[in-house]
Amino acid sequence: MDRLRQQELIQEIKEKNDIVSVISEYVSLRKAGRSWVGLCPFHSEKTGSFNVNPEKQFFYCFGCSAGGDVFSFIMKRENLEFMEAARKLAERAGIAWPESNDHQADQNKNELLKINQLAASYFHYCLSRTEQGKRGREYLERRGIDPEIWRKFSLGYAPPGWHHLTETLRKKNVPLEKASTLGLVSFGENGYYDRFRDRIIFPICDPQGNVVGFGGRVLDQGEPKYLNSPETALFHKGRFLYGLQLAKETIRRQNQAIIMEGYMDVVQAHQGGFQQAIASLGTALTQDQVKLIKRYGSEVILAYDADTAGQNATLRGMGLLREAGLTVKILRLPAGEDPDSFLKKAGEKAFREQLAQAPGLIEFKIEQALRKYDLNSSEGKLGAVQAVLPELGEIESSVAREFYIRQLAREIGVSENAVFAEVDDWLAKNRKKSPVLDNKLIPSYTKMTTEKNGLSVGIIRNAELSPIQAAIFEAEKELLQIALQEYDKFARIKEELKAEDFQFAVWRDFFGALQDTEPAPENHQILDELTGPIRELASTLLAEQQFKSGTGDLAGILNRLDMLRLKARIQKLTEQIATGKDDSGLQLSEADLKAKLLEFTELNRKLKKEYPSFSAEL
Ligand SMILES: [Zn+2]
Repeated sequence: MDRLRQQELIQEIKEKNDIVSVISEYVSLRKAGRSWVGLCPFHSEKTGSFNVNPEKQFFYCFGCSAGGDVFSFIMKRENLEFMEAARKLAERAGIAWPESNDHQADQNKNELLKINQLAASYFHYCLSRTEQGKRGREYLERRGIDPEIWRKFSLGYAPPGWHHLTETLRKKNVPLEKASTLGLVSFGENGYYDRFRDRIIFPICDPQGNVVGFGGRVLDQGEPKYLNSPETALFHKGRFLYGLQLAKETIRRQNQAIIMEGYMDVVQAHQGGFQQAIASLGTALTQDQVKLIKRYGSEVILAYDADTAGQNATLRGMGLLREAGLTVKILRLPAGEDPDSFLKKAGEKAFREQLAQAPGLIEFKIEQALRKYDLNSSEGKLGAVQAVLPELGEIESSVAREFYIRQLAREIGVSENAVFAEVDDWLAKNRKKSPVLDNKLIPSYTKMTTEKNGLSVGIIRNAELSPIQAAIFEAEKELLQIALQEYDKFARIKEELKAEDFQFAVWRDFFGALQDTEPAPENHQILDELTGPIRELASTLLAEQQFKSGTGDLAGILNRLDMLRLKARIQKLTEQIATGKDDSGLQLSEADLKAKLLEFTELNRKLKKEYPSFSAEL
């Protein structure tokens, strides 16, 4: 599809998918003035902060700042890429989607998915309807799993013997060679034979519910206990999470995922009322899995057996989760219990309480260190303190750090001062250079520009910015919003500013990307020229602008930005003169100080002269 054809297609899709009618299929909307209002599908709320503007064809949530056009909505809601969302909307409007070059690849993938689906249906049939399946049924009944849950998870049973699935597939004219690439059948001296035999089958799905692989569990003492699909064209075990297709809505609603060890744990948890439960597939968590979780929620509770919770692989997984900005907690269970046995014995209410009291990573590590060292000896005490220093040192908030230091000192039986001294030492040795101002913002914004579908955060202004920095942030953003609206204003801004002039990296990069786009044909919006994450950010910015009306006065904003920069510079000089140190903490020489004083006086004079009405602000 060439560029022009694609633009026409996108335009047509947009025209034929009215945003109110599309969103109404997901959210119940009521008319309020010129907008439609409802409960936001992207954060949990009781009052309707979610607005849809039919005139401008944008949505915007005042609660979580999610916003965009009809494509953005489908991308966010269905977790799709832009072109996937476009395709879905094309189908909805009955617009023919042009055949693509990767048509062949799509077809092949669909064929493989169909084979997996066929196998899953066959296993499920064996479990629920056949005489042989009795063994499987009895096993699940013994484990207390209701038939309703078998159906929900499409659980199955692979009968003992060598040719059940093989023959079934053959009869359905499935090429067995293809089934073998999926790890369903194997090829030996006597031809193809079943790979899964006498096992309970857990189909593994992608988030959309397509069966991508299988896990098979033995019923008694056989080996291996679990047999999974090998890595195939569809299945990469580091990329999927068991149960996510069923858990994703609950995870989104409760903003919480519970990660368990195995298939059976997940199935039991769902039956017990915890539909946010998922499992990694027999491995430590991977980056891909962490990203996947993050699409749906921001808190993760690890519910592993007590004996495995301390293993290094688990701790690494926790590290990944935390690095990704997720809140990590660890479910604490009485000794000798696993999540499943505890849920059965103590019941849903007790389990829920345990979840609510789950300690964070730091508390958990402190507990572990306390258990590991002999706290009666001074070596043991020192060892325990040393073991948690990195955790304590990395706590950003000094209030929280102090809290944990006090707790640790109390529990180990050493003086608080001794622990404080150790932590200070650690900090002095390991403290990274304190970040420059706009670095603090980068995590939330680069997420948008680097991660696919990374729009989950919406536009959030970082609360840690000083008032002047925040005002600069807003002014730079407003400039871009104006640029997005009108080509001639964009041209004006390009005359006035270069990308480097933007102070905040996110806006600098965005402006740079805008400049790289080709000029659009007449009557086209800049938005339609953009693709990928840049389009997402643009769409959110436009939506925000529609609902939070700015002045739109270009000259005024440029002027204001100049003034703000002047003020920021004055503020910095004030700090340096007061402390006698430069930004990196080095002592300023007498001559430097004098020069700074001069500049300070000069800039203040300029501020009063050029911006008499502004100078009292902030
Ligand atoms: Zn919202």
